[in-house]
Amino acid sequence: MKKLAIKWPNLEGRLDVETEKLYRLYTLREDHRQAAIGIALLALVVALTIPNDFVFPMEPAHFILLMTSRAIFIVYSIALILYLHRNSDPVKYDNNIFLWGLFGVAVNLLIIFSRPAAYTGHAMADVVILIIIYLGAPFRLLYRVILALLFTGGCLAYLVVNAPQLTFPWIRVEVLSLVFVNIVGLIISHHLYSYRRKQFVTQMAEVKAKEELRLAASRDSMTGILNHRTFFEQGERELKRFARYGKVFSLIEIDIDDFKGINDTHGHVEGDNVLLKLVDMVSSHIRQSDVFGRTGGDEFCILLIETNKADAMDIAERIRATCCNCRLNAATGTPIHFTVSVGLVESSKDDAGIGQMYSRADAAMYRAKREGHNRVCAD
Ligand code: GH3
Ligand code: MG
Repeated sequence: MKKLAIKWPNLEGRLDVETEKLYRLYTLREDHRQAAIGIALLALVVALTIPNDFVFPMEPAHFILLMTSRAIFIVYSIALILYLHRNSDPVKYDNNIFLWGLFGVAVNLLIIFSRPAAYTGHAMADVVILIIIYLGAPFRLLYRVILALLFTGGCLAYLVVNAPQLTFPWIRVEVLSLVFVNIVGLIISHHLYSYRRKQFVTQMAEVKAKEELRLAASRDSMTGILNHRTFFEQGERELKRFARYGKVFSLIEIDIDDFKGINDTHGHVEGDNVLLKLVDMVSSHIRQSDVFGRTGGDEFCILLIETNKADAMDIAERIRATCCNCRLNAATGTPIHFTVSVGLVESSKDDAGIGQMYSRADAAMYRAKREGHNRVCAD
């Protein structure tokens, strides 16, 4: 069967599904706080109006029903506040407040219907209740509308049922004011929460832009791996960790052999492709926790975390062999062959800083170049 594609007007100012979810999670704590105040106030109104039940004449059974409903509502409200304190799911938050709201509307209508028709002054408390429902507890608009409609509908029914006794016009004004509060409450709450959503989106965009900037500042723009500065910052951190906890790590320096020649023969674009291919291949040989950066034009460094010299040697040798066996197809169809020279060192207590450790790796790498390229030398 074909699904009916009904597009409801977005009165609530909802965002796209993912952003809306984030927004609800982000504001949940604050919503809980506001809702708890609203719930507590409403329970207080229900408690403070208990003396009315003793003033107005009513059947004993009715009196017991009223008092029991008030008592259950107050206990329910306290339980809900305690529950919300531990809740972390926006949907459960909405549903629980809605259920509590339904019960609240029933109790309040019972209270209103229990009053003599000639009584004036009750609508003020009800106006307060509506304001609390609209502004005090930010939950789903649909639920808020249902509760408000039920409540207003009940109040209007009270007017109709008691029409013959409603001789004093002020009562009508009071009850009709509920309809007015309904509409104004909806409009105000709509603006309030759309504004809050807009603010959230702006904040998110700012956070994202900052994150992108931070990332751009720490990455090499061509290959996407860490740039020189960030690589050395992380290296310094790793060396400090080694000094403190003694967890050995290794540093590998990789330099492409005769890269200038590759550029000269195949052009800079193909040279760039060689760099990208190298990054790709190295990434597949190291772990997520390892640190990989571009420290020069055709020079790359890796920090192999918690890896000693012997294990690092294996990895370096594998990288060297993969590069040597790789044939990259240039746009012209000519295969490009390239090799790398690798220098390797293990962290040492004698290294005063990452710069010193890097110098040892660099010396080992130059030894590999001198000894004929395409090899791994360890310090
Ligand atoms: P060696 O075997 O001694 O390492 O020789 P080499 O030619 O690789 O070393 P050299 O340092 O003389 O040359 C590095 C070259 O890398 C020079 C430079 O034009 C080139 N290069 C640096 N950055 C890039 C880049 O981003 N893209 C390309 N295509 N070439 C680059
Ligand atoms: Mg080189």
